[in-house]
Amino acid sequence: MSQLRKDPIVSRWVIVATERARRPAAFVDPQSTATDPKDCLYCRDVSAKVVYKSHGVKVINSSSPILNSHSPFERRTHGLYEVAHSYGSHEIVIETTEHTANMADLSKEQIKTVIKTYALRMQVHRQDPSIEYILAYKNYGVAAGSRDIGHARSQIMAVPVLPMRVKDKTKGAQKYFDYHERCLFCDMVAQELKIKERVVCQNEHFVTITPFASRFPFETWILPKEHHCDFADGIRGREDSLAAIMKDILLRFKIGLNDPAYNYMIQTSPVKKPLAFKDDYHWHIEVMPRLTRVAGFERGTGFYICPIPPEMTADFLREVDINA
Ligand SMILES: [Zn+2]
Ligand SMILES: [Zn+2]
Repeated sequence: MSQLRKDPIVSRWVIVATERARRPAAFVDPQSTATDPKDCLYCRDVSAKVVYKSHGVKVINSSSPILNSHSPFERRTHGLYEVAHSYGSHEIVIETTEHTANMADLSKEQIKTVIKTYALRMQVHRQDPSIEYILAYKNYGVAAGSRDIGHARSQIMAVPVLPMRVKDKTKGAQKYFDYHERCLFCDMVAQELKIKERVVCQNEHFVTITPFASRFPFETWILPKEHHCDFADGIRGREDSLAAIMKDILLRFKIGLNDPAYNYMIQTSPVKKPLAFKDDYHWHIEVMPRLTRVAGFERGTGFYICPIPPEMTADFLREVDINA
């Protein structure tokens, strides 16, 4: 038997395997990210390309950027098709001067510098009136879309259009707010903290949960306990807490699931018209190990099959001894 569950934000249904669920240990997927620092692009001198640096964190422009802002942003149409050149910016955040692969192994202080760097770069990019959205994200491990370099880094992409997932989330949050006059995410935090079965860890300012309608096994979200729509403004004075909870969840993945590939994406509000999202949107971070592949059914329907209930993965992650 399985259960159909509806994501309250984007109204997406997922199928969660319950009775015949795979055991948490069945997802452990060992892979090595260790590489030789001699071959590492980021252990070399990148000073000529550095656009920002602070305490061992360096930001460089991507050497193979997907986006650039050499000419102004313009949209054109060809009949019903709309095109624009790939305007925007694509930066690499080199998280440490050491040749360390996994952010889980960086100190809390170093993770805090990375977080502050994201916020500062977002503040820079949002000055550009053509930019609609800024995404800070990480691909760790080959299965998560990273090249096999073995040096902790993440990326910041500033784009001139609103990504569909962001549109879906903000629309869902607005709809809930219009009806209830409360923030959907604040309500979610309150409910999850009350029932606790999907809470993995928490501290003063943040909670990590496995979402009710998880798409992927071990999908987790880090949610701020206080309401704020924007990451860069919302984390002011909370950087220590966020670094601590990020290290906590990444260590749980590393130790409990044998160093899996993972992604995280900071889901902040759109850059334009920030006041429009102030009350109903609530920034958060999606963190997910890459343990399964998306297949035809998911691609064809946008419907996901999660092979293990999030209550079971929360339980498993809570039990991981990160001080071992
Ligand atoms: Zn390196
Ligand atoms: Zn909220």
